[in-house]
Amino acid sequence: MSEPNPPYLREVLASIPAYKPGRKVAGPHGRAVKLSSNESPYGPLPSVLAAVSAAAADLNRYPDSGAADLTAALAARFGVAEDRVAVGAGSVGLIQQLLEAVAEPGAEVLYAWRSFEAYPLLVELSGATPVTVPLRDETHDLDALAAAVTDRTRLVFVCNPNNPTGTAVREPALTSFLDRMPDHVLVVLDEAYREYVRDPEVPDGIALYGDRPNVAVLRTFSKAYGLAALRVGFCVAHPTIAAALRKTMVPFAVNHVAQAAAVASLAAEGELLERVAATVKERERVRDALLADGWEVPPTEANFVWLRLHGDTLAFAEACEAAGVAVRAFAGEGLRVSIGTPEENDAFLACAGEFPRRNR
Ligand code: PMP
Repeated sequence: MSEPNPPYLREVLASIPAYKPGRKVAGPHGRAVKLSSNESPYGPLPSVLAAVSAAAADLNRYPDSGAADLTAALAARFGVAEDRVAVGAGSVGLIQQLLEAVAEPGAEVLYAWRSFEAYPLLVELSGATPVTVPLRDETHDLDALAAAVTDRTRLVFVCNPNNPTGTAVREPALTSFLDRMPDHVLVVLDEAYREYVRDPEVPDGIALYGDRPNVAVLRTFSKAYGLAALRVGFCVAHPTIAAALRKTMVPFAVNHVAQAAAVASLAAEGELLERVAATVKERERVRDALLADGWEVPPTEANFVWLRLHGDTLAFAEACEAAGVAVRAFAGEGLRVSIGTPEENDAFLACAGEFPRRNR
């Protein structure tokens, strides 16, 4: 597959692919519908754009590396002390920082698979050893994950809801899992899609577990808040973990335009959550239409649906792309389709309706 590394590069780089972002395709008549990256389909609010332009006047200055205003706004919003909040360059930035904080040769990092594609890449890069446990019915198997913890485990990712399947773990299973974690293990609850959750039994990690000394909850401004391009994520955790994140951050990683946009988004949260509600309504419409059409679609708590397609996955994705609809294909497994505007979703549903029925 890849070229052998020159001697000055770490060997591990020869086996790690670069992260592949969701595709964008140009369809017939120039129509391009991007449902491949779980983004918000809505552009920025006027109040957020105004904050962005005001902040842009200071582009000659370094940003506030400690993100004081944003940290204070997040602490107030979530009812936690400021020393429990750390911001980073997207939640992927924070994932990399957490790994940097725990990884040393021999350390094991545990996660369910299939899950967020960046976990294996960043774990391998950190020098730790990835250990995976298969999903059961496309959902985290918390008992199997707990059973896979060893003396060498340092970090466990629990992606809730899970990307790419949309499934979520509930109470009391998650609490029981966390209760079983030994002190030498940090559990990272990746809640990138939390705002889209409607099942009341799916726990809010910050409210329920934010006080635990070995839990770090990750959230992002990239999805519900619609700021994917600006790269802002945050972590709520014990002060010791937040302090470790301040040490492992690249200085000035979150620029001040992004910080200002995030603060303005928190101020406009009501409006943004209305958009989230519209996406949730569309999610249910899309899933119901797919189920009625005979497709297998597990219940989802995120801003995307998962179609179990097995051997048909790539053919289905190609049919979508030919129609100008970009989706995310996992060969042999299934398709992840983000929820867009009603028109974008209709474009996808039209592709599904036209695809041969043989496996439905
Ligand atoms: N966690 C999960 C589960 C995700 O799906 C994503 C984005 N695809 C992220 C983290 C990263 O989001 P960001 O870096 O944009 O905050």
